[in-house]
Amino acid sequence: MDYAQNRRRLIRLIRIYPLIALAVLALAYLLGGFSNRENPIISQDVVITALYLFVGVVPLMFIIGFIAVGKASDKAGLKNNMHSKLNYNQAFDLPSEVMHGYKLALITARPPSLTGLTGDAYLSDASAKCTINKEHVPPVADCECGFYAYSDLIEAKFERSINPGAFLLDVDLYGVGFKYARGYRAETQVVNELITPSRCQFCRILPAKVFVTTYKLGYDDISWWQWHIRCVICSSSFKDKDKLSIDQMSASLKLLIS
Ligand SMILES: [Zn+2]
Ligand SMILES: [Zn+2]
Repeated sequence: MDYAQNRRRLIRLIRIYPLIALAVLALAYLLGGFSNRENPIISQDVVITALYLFVGVVPLMFIIGFIAVGKASDKAGLKNNMHSKLNYNQAFDLPSEVMHGYKLALITARPPSLTGLTGDAYLSDASAKCTINKEHVPPVADCECGFYAYSDLIEAKFERSINPGAFLLDVDLYGVGFKYARGYRAETQVVNELITPSRCQFCRILPAKVFVTTYKLGYDDISWWQWHIRCVICSSSFKDKDKLSIDQMSASLKLLIS
């Protein structure tokens, strides 16, 4: 079973849930469920029961769906882990192929730099460091360290759609590497290019043209600058010092931007 695909389907369904809810309300209204007429087409009791079911049962089904998909993914992960442990013990059998993949990153700070979604900053050419055990040279089979990348562009694009501030990176991974259920985990990572979304990250309508930065306040007094790409209109209120053209961003990150 392709759990990643099932997870994508579930999330898509959740996105249209409000629309379905509105449609159900409209239908109930049209059928007279909310009126005090003597002989409505369907009685108010039926409408109210149906609405309760809709509000209660549907989210429950989503939760059950996510638990099922999560369990399946854990199982797949376990199988994969056993597989990678086997590989690890037979170091000479490790794949020496270049692992090409995609991943998500944020652009933060001034001057701008790439930051993984887990919060660790990295250069466009870097070796992974383990934050759990300093003795590790990532990736270590039993640990979580190493650079991760999706092998499938469609999956990476989908993940970007649920992380709206993130950018897509095209990466090559080298060194010791493991395959895991959704892609690769490896020692060294080279970022080939940053793929910008075609539309403005703010209005999502007009073409994306300019990078702008905003100051974010987080918990525990953590605050940071985060960069987004916007259209000409949505970037017009920014001061010049808070804007970068695509070429300037490319020079600053020392990275190809397409
Ligand atoms: Zn580690
Ligand atoms: Zn815009």
